[in-house]
Amino acid sequence: MKTRIALACLLSIVSATTLAQEQVLNIYSARHYPTDEALYANFTKATGIKLNRVDADDAGILARLKAEGAASPADIILLVDASRLWRGETDGLFQPIKSKLLDDAIPAQYRGKANANGETPWYGFSTRARVIVYDKLKVKKEDVDTYEELGDPKNTGKLCIRSGSHPYNLSLFGSVTEHMGEAAAEQWLKGMVANMARAPKGGDTDQIKAVASGECGIAVSNSYYLARLMRSTKPEDQTVIERVGVVFPNQSTWGTHVNIAGGAVAKNAKNPANAIKFLEYLASASAQDHFANGNNEWPVAKGVKINNPALQAMTGGSFKSETIPISVVGMNQVKVQQMLDRVGFK
Ligand code: FE
Repeated sequence: MKTRIALACLLSIVSATTLAQEQVLNIYSARHYPTDEALYANFTKATGIKLNRVDADDAGILARLKAEGAASPADIILLVDASRLWRGETDGLFQPIKSKLLDDAIPAQYRGKANANGETPWYGFSTRARVIVYDKLKVKKEDVDTYEELGDPKNTGKLCIRSGSHPYNLSLFGSVTEHMGEAAAEQWLKGMVANMARAPKGGDTDQIKAVASGECGIAVSNSYYLARLMRSTKPEDQTVIERVGVVFPNQSTWGTHVNIAGGAVAKNAKNPANAIKFLEYLASASAQDHFANGNNEWPVAKGVKINNPALQAMTGGSFKSETIPISVVGMNQVKVQQMLDRVGFK
């Protein structure tokens, strides 16, 4: 009997200790890449901190944070669009971060603007380019080497693109609006609607496949979707890749539109110190290598080398990317949505 009580006592002490030691971070993530599982697993392995993940799209995450308010269990927010990061910041959903490690690792152009205390609202951890994909059999590269040409009448009936309201496109259009001016950008969007081979549907990979099948001549896609097909060993993916060409647009003018995936600490995070630890992990060489080799993005941390044959093949080594501030792209979003409504871009 005595032994039993002693054992029960011991067990309850053990479980109390385990509970006290079990550290958990709640992540709201818009990253939708199966290869990321290794990224999360490596963090838990290294730190013992467990990760609970809620997956949703950028808009869904921001809406959920707003609805939950102070009761939100979220510690970390991962978003895949710069203007949504900017939106989260301006809506006061993030907690300013002070981390010398992050400030040293991440160049200023890839993070939110620091406040008077030198605290930063969010950090970008990887970049992706919004590229043009074309049918090598039917379309000449020089007819699609700028974003402007997507709306040019010479490309009538050829364009396939996902919904205009998707963050990837809202950010691209917000950037183009900044470069062209509002009136010209609206004409450009109107031209794109006139050039569509079909009404917008599906994701970026669907557009690439529709080019390969001959349904469209031109598509717009994030670079990593194309790289994923390039690295695939499936014969049907290889057939797609043989048929399509890729252009990094506007190399002789303002540069290719580049978007950011990044992270922030939630306003009401219960574990801010561990949350920062996780973000610092994302800036580490091994996590940055994962972004480049696992998900075919470009790492942003200084001094990290890329060793990804698909990215190398796609760019020929390097490309010129645009340099306008992310906040501007974010601020243009409302304007862009109104223009899309006016020109009937679904
Ligand atoms: Fe994506």
